Amino acid sequence: MNNVLAVDIGGTHFRVGLFDEGGRRLLVSEGDTSREDGRDWMLDEIRGRARELVEKTDRPVKACGASFGGPVDFDRQRVLSVHTPGWQNFALGEWLERTLGLPSRVDNDANCGGLGEHRYGAGRGAGSMVYVTISTGIGAGIIIGGRALRGRDNLAGELGHIPVSESGALCSCGAKGCLETFCSGNAIADRGRDWARRRPESIDRVLEISGGTPDQVTARSVVLAALEGDSVARSIVQESARWLGRALLTVIRILDPDRIVLGGGVALAGSVLLDPVRDTMREFGSPSIGYSTEIVLAELENYSPLYGAAAMALDLAGQPETGSTA
Ligand SMILES: [Zn+2]
Repeated sequence: MNNVLAVDIGGTHFRVGLFDEGGRRLLVSEGDTSREDGRDWMLDEIRGRARELVEKTDRPVKACGASFGGPVDFDRQRVLSVHTPGWQNFALGEWLERTLGLPSRVDNDANCGGLGEHRYGAGRGAGSMVYVTISTGIGAGIIIGGRALRGRDNLAGELGHIPVSESGALCSCGAKGCLETFCSGNAIADRGRDWARRRPESIDRVLEISGGTPDQVTARSVVLAALEGDSVARSIVQESARWLGRALLTVIRILDPDRIVLGGGVALAGSVLLDPVRDTMREFGSPSIGYSTEIVLAELENYSPLYGAAAMALDLAGQPETGSTA
């Protein structure tokens, strides 16, 4: 039995994993991404951890798949990210092949997350599926017939940057009124910090989880407090869910997919997010144009992109179907 390597380079965490040809995760080495230390530090970490994992198996390692948390030119196997200094136009695919001596393939985290959920998670058996990742920002991986729809400029599925409001705040992409400014980890953290500054007594549990000061409030602390039942934290997540619900109706109207899978850190809020998403879709949906698309939570949690990277590596190694669908 052969193994493959999978790499997930995210804005806050990175992971290197060893998978078998059935798509089972054997070993994972992970850490926090240090933006200050830059690209070369990250590449050193990936190289070192990949070599450690390869040394721990006596089976041949055949290929490597990688997920990058930002836009990727799939045809040229280059990173297009402008937000992460040092990465723009970096030939990550070629670097992996040269460094690891393995056939390698890179795609963005939304497409990888979609591939991972489609093959090993909540998207199993779906002919068409949209994986929506709600973390720092929002992205989508559109999977049709087991393959990611990339589009002319590799920008298909940039769900976070669809315009949803005329009065929206400036988005990280430079546009105004993008979905991401209302519904994303950043939007939730901003709203949490705003509450913490204006009415700290109303959001004391969020502050407690965060470490005490408004500046320390993160999307994660808001989501955790919401899960504990904190009413303000729940309302913050619910407000994002309403924006998301309307955006998902748009996705359904365009693609009419079998299934939409919600993943990323914010989706760990579970029903606190999913229930108001469904309510909003009912509220704003048309009584005369129905839909039967299922809206479900990701099953692989934070590991969806890593599993997708493993799926790409297995395809590259010529073992696409082994143990794929259950
Ligand atoms: Zn935008």
